[in-house]
Amino acid sequence: MPSEPKVVIVGTGGTIAGRADSATNLAYSAGQLSVADLLEVIPDLANVAQISGQNLFSLNSKDMGPDQWRLLARTISEEASRKDVTGVVVTHGTDTLEEAALFLHLTLSTDKPIVLTGSMRPATALSPDGPANLFHAVQVCASANASGRGVMVVMNGEILSALHVVKRHSIATNAFTSSPARPLGRVYSGRTFFFSDSTKAALAGAFGGALSNDVVLPAVDIHYVAAGNSHADLLSRDWTERRGLVIAGFGCGEIPDGLVPEINRLADDGITIVVSSRVADVVVLPETMTLTEEHHIVASRHLNPHKSALLLSLALSAGKDVAATFMSTDADG
Ligand code: ASP
Repeated sequence: MPSEPKVVIVGTGGTIAGRADSATNLAYSAGQLSVADLLEVIPDLANVAQISGQNLFSLNSKDMGPDQWRLLARTISEEASRKDVTGVVVTHGTDTLEEAALFLHLTLSTDKPIVLTGSMRPATALSPDGPANLFHAVQVCASANASGRGVMVVMNGEILSALHVVKRHSIATNAFTSSPARPLGRVYSGRTFFFSDSTKAALAGAFGGALSNDVVLPAVDIHYVAAGNSHADLLSRDWTERRGLVIAGFGCGEIPDGLVPEINRLADDGITIVVSSRVADVVVLPETMTLTEEHHIVASRHLNPHKSALLLSLALSAGKDVAATFMSTDADG
């Protein structure tokens, strides 16, 4: 008989650990409860796996970034390297869950399941979504089919790849979706379904070197276009310390004609430009964008501006070919 799965839960805060003054108050404080508090309301989890937990942070994820991601990645790596551990679940705020999941996907190389989850409603809400999400995340992590798939996010009954997960709503419990690919699977209490064989999404573990404190991750700005915008902030910026820029362009990567010479000049000066889009489901291909894809100008393919900024920063710090890196996000395997 296979031994009982053992899942480690690493708490980082977020709304899943949030509390409000009343069950009907939209305002609340994130990151108030410990992993032990979260587990108290889901005693049935003991039937799914043997659980151990640790509280790494108690943060609203708006305040998380590369320093916290590195510490989180090292903590996960250490837990996952223990022979008796089946996988690791991370409870996380939803506001920067996309970036954290992508960072972990790009830097961790374990085959064990790493699953992030959170909630849209605080633990004190009339009908909190956190307990079910955490239950499902552990269930996915403990599933016999979960290994070798790269980092995953489980929200609202869906299993989403870190490469494709996007947050599309500020409040609704179905805020998270997968774009452009379909979810990897679905999870219902007691049942877990994966729709494909075990394959890791592209670039899994490709930037493991970024976990070293000596590696500097260059800051990458995002410039958001809007009709009638003067772009004065972009044009007046001091670029001496900067290496990359992501443009959240229109539609398929269009930008106003007036901006084209300035962006080409920045690219000529050695700033790497990635063109993404401000729309919800991004498709920016070399043939659809206003600029020409060439040295220092790259189409983001299906990555949104904030995920593009993270990937660009990692690619620049690792000295990788940026166009080839973004191109490879389109291919599985
Ligand atoms: N601001 C919260 C956070 O990201 C939102 C959430 O978790 O849903 O920590």
